[in-house]
Amino acid sequence: MNIAYRDEIAKCPNCGANINLIVGRYPGGCNDSGGWVLKCHVCASLFPLTVKNPDDASAVRSGATIIDSWDNEIDNRAHILAKHGVADTGQAVERMLLVTHGEPEDFYDLESRALYRCTACGTELDAKAYAALSEQLDSINGAFATYLNWFLAHSRGAPEGISARVETACTCGRTHEARFYRKFSEHFPERAADYWLIDVASAAPIPEGGKTLDVDGIFSRDDCIAILEKLLLRWQAGHSAVLLAAPFIGFNFPGAKKKVPDLWNWVLKYTNPAKTLLITRKATFNLLKEVAKDTEMDVEFLKSWGLLNPTLATLDEKKAFFKTDFHAKFYCGISADSVEILVGSFNIHEGSYVENIHLLRYSLEEFSRRYLVGMKMFFDLKPLSTRRSMLDIFVDPEGIFRCKEIAYTGSMFSEPKPWASSKLT
Ligand SMILES: [Zn+2]
Ligand SMILES: [Zn+2]
Repeated sequence: MNIAYRDEIAKCPNCGANINLIVGRYPGGCNDSGGWVLKCHVCASLFPLTVKNPDDASAVRSGATIIDSWDNEIDNRAHILAKHGVADTGQAVERMLLVTHGEPEDFYDLESRALYRCTACGTELDAKAYAALSEQLDSINGAFATYLNWFLAHSRGAPEGISARVETACTCGRTHEARFYRKFSEHFPERAADYWLIDVASAAPIPEGGKTLDVDGIFSRDDCIAILEKLLLRWQAGHSAVLLAAPFIGFNFPGAKKKVPDLWNWVLKYTNPAKTLLITRKATFNLLKEVAKDTEMDVEFLKSWGLLNPTLATLDEKKAFFKTDFHAKFYCGISADSVEILVGSFNIHEGSYVENIHLLRYSLEEFSRRYLVGMKMFFDLKPLSTRRSMLDIFVDPEGIFRCKEIAYTGSMFSEPKPWASSKLT
């Protein structure tokens, strides 16, 4: 039977610790009403919590252990509470509901400035690449279905992501290979927009100095945002880590302040907290705290419910990534073999002011020498070499989509290093 799930957080009535629940309901079906006796993991106190379907569809994810349950139909609540010596204060436990199943979100904006251009004629390629993906989506899903059968029977672990490569023709006749990415999941995307465009490479030899990804010049702040947004998706997919050194996010003057939470939300939407390091000024973070107070992005409120984005929690708790004495701005995707870095005058601001930005590529050693040493930032670079596995979906010489697992220890944009365990299905 179909079950609809919702995440909830309840607070222990004794110590206020957060307890994460998943509450399941059978839409149109028979739903039991009842509850649990929970034991808090922090203070070990016992308390009752009312919940739908306590014995089957609902569960505690973290924060407490289920000691027992009651069922309103059997009318055994008082008996169960008495059995465990739990006082029934009649007081409702403070809890928060989180909607988990919303509309699919779009990440790659085809309305804003394109990132990739044809090396022969300069035509923008982003929308053409998505059109090509749309056309091939059924074939790609077909290849993925074959892989999934093998995966469910044999796999020892899911790849981190799925990359799909499709040929994209330019109006001038030149062919390019567009590369798309989505995080690994067993579902079949129905829309090309579920994939992020992460690279476009020329399929034929290109003239000296020709690049499909070429950013160097003067751009409006809105275009800078569009470029960085697309690079953040590329880096999150193709590199081991993302480093953002942004002294300012939004402006501290009346009228502009209300933009501050939007800009932070934008940073958080386009970065994965597990692989992102944000370096900023303490005043920049304090501005967010001040402006977001009593809004849905209230830092203290989110923290108290355990909902603060880990990138912000790191800033808030460790305070290790505040620097006061810097005005340098750079944003980069870092891997053990190469680094892509966007440098220039651009802070994270919107508007029509113009800024200079420049996309560079360096080896990790060269990047460390030129950028990290000057910032007096020293990191353990070893985790960058952690092997990441990807499912690559590509067209074989007969024109049929195939799947292959590829492991990377460097960036996805360098030559893939074939590992012994690569599996053709
Ligand atoms: Zn407690
Ligand atoms: Zn062209």
